[in-house]
Amino acid sequence: MPTHTHCRVCGSVLPAPFLDLGAMPLANAFLSSLEDAASEASYPLAVTACPTCGLVQLNHVVPAEQLYRNYLYVSSTSEAVRAHADWLAEALVRRYGWKPTDCLVEVASNDGTVLRSFQRTGMRVLGVEPARNIAAMAEADGVPTITEFFNAATAEQVAAAHGRAAGILARHVFAHVNNLHDFLEGVNALLDDDGVFVIEMPYLGSLLSQMEFDTIYHEHLSYFSLAPLVRLCRDHGLDLVDAERITLHGGSILFYVRRPRRGIIRSPRLEQLLEEERRLALTSPQTLTQFGASVRRWRDDFTNWIGELQKGGARLMGYGAAAKANTLLNYCPSVAASLECILDRSPLKQGRYTPGTHLPVKPVEHWLASPATHLLILAWNFKEEIIRQMQPFARRGGRFVIPIPTPDVVDGLTSEPSPVESGVQ
Ligand SMILES: [Zn+2]
Repeated sequence: MPTHTHCRVCGSVLPAPFLDLGAMPLANAFLSSLEDAASEASYPLAVTACPTCGLVQLNHVVPAEQLYRNYLYVSSTSEAVRAHADWLAEALVRRYGWKPTDCLVEVASNDGTVLRSFQRTGMRVLGVEPARNIAAMAEADGVPTITEFFNAATAEQVAAAHGRAAGILARHVFAHVNNLHDFLEGVNALLDDDGVFVIEMPYLGSLLSQMEFDTIYHEHLSYFSLAPLVRLCRDHGLDLVDAERITLHGGSILFYVRRPRRGIIRSPRLEQLLEEERRLALTSPQTLTQFGASVRRWRDDFTNWIGELQKGGARLMGYGAAAKANTLLNYCPSVAASLECILDRSPLKQGRYTPGTHLPVKPVEHWLASPATHLLILAWNFKEEIIRQMQPFARRGGRFVIPIPTPDVVDGLTSEPSPVESGVQ
């Protein structure tokens, strides 16, 4: 696998990593049988920061064809994502006054969950999604989808066939893109003069302040703060005009990018966030070296803490076979060894084994047949949703272990009836 030696925004030579998580298999490369473990490939996972523009990025890049052609993450399995999609559609349509004749293009549109929310507002929609198995699900559900990677060539074809877009949405994909310049050329080719390019992604500020090292995996090539994005947009004649922090996925951010035009100015909250990044020296070598050291300390503490729980008689299962779960488990092998299995709602993952740690993934109902006393919530960004769904486990005396940012154990009991008991799915 090629080492990534030059910054993908500004081309500067990259220094040695500030955090090295070791070699791991791809976070979404679940095994169909344990016999496949013998041929399992691992790749280095380490992060560095550009000394010129500040972009935090992986030191090694796995080719996209290997990562995405058969992807297992399906967005509609999460209630929180569905609710977020409705909120986003309503907010953007209101803010930009989009009409039914306007077209919204979503890059990496997955199974069409988000585009369906825009369809309900009456807009024309179009998805661009490279994973064939998942694009087919969107099409079957009435969401027109082009099975391609988004880049300048794809964008030109889309613009010629469907006209230019009032909005381009890129949720949790921008950090996955190796050639960002090609991507932004695509945005330029497809976006209407008055259009807006909306990017949603994890925010580096949250990663650093909330110990979210497990959001580092091979698919996330870049970890954005504002400064490198401002520079990248400017290189393509575009302007970052607003940034809005949201809680989804443990601290994400919405970026609003437009063509420079009279009357469009930067929002006060964007200016404020830029100032905060400067004040915190967010991407300085010192900040990042300290973060690397605190991740190593977190691993030692967490490993010991789980060991103590087990000595006290705890029996553990994991919940949520998310990509971040696989970073955490591969980085903490003795924690992985303490788990009976991982529960997950996605039928695409059930019956498979986690990459690297080879834990069986089971349907959520498996807990009923298990003697487990503790549920390690690996998909901690959905912890409220998971604890709500697992109320019967809490009432059996089960406990929930939340690993990030500081390991904690809670009984999670609420007085509300669980969604299952009240008949609401
Ligand atoms: Zn750079």
